Amino acid sequence: MTVDVCLRGGRVFDVFSGAFRRLDVSIAAGRIVSLTQRAARETIDARRLWIVPGLVGAHVHLKSSHLSPAQFARAVVPRGTTTVIADPHEVANVCGLAGVRAGLASRPAGHSPPAAGRRRPRRRRPTRSHPSTVE
Ligand SMILES: [Zn+2]
Repeated sequence: MTVDVCLRGGRVFDVFSGAFRRLDVSIAAGRIVSLTQRAARETIDARRLWIVPGLVGAHVHLKSSHLSPAQFARAVVPRGTTTVIADPHEVANVCGLAGVRAGLASRPAGHSPPAAGRRRPRRRRPTRSHPSTVE
């Protein structure tokens, strides 16, 4: 199988051992398909590069960056952060639910917003005939 890109000889972070290993990374259709050398349409000399999985910002206040979520993503994704756990309390304090919804609607291209207007499940109540069952 010919892949799109092969990164040759980079230092690849092994999340299981915590060590860097010199490996080749083969990519097809935007996904890593192998940590071995494959025939590729493009080969990149990665011997001077460090290759790590996407970083996760475990607690981010996007408002403090003074950027929209889409602008924030454009700033951090090229530097390796691919996921953030965003705390919206600042925008919620200032703009309420409308601000939170505006933040959720501001997404980089290619990401779908969550289903809008989804109703919470109806609260179930025990029946009179049998208190342990629910309707
Ligand atoms: Zn917080």
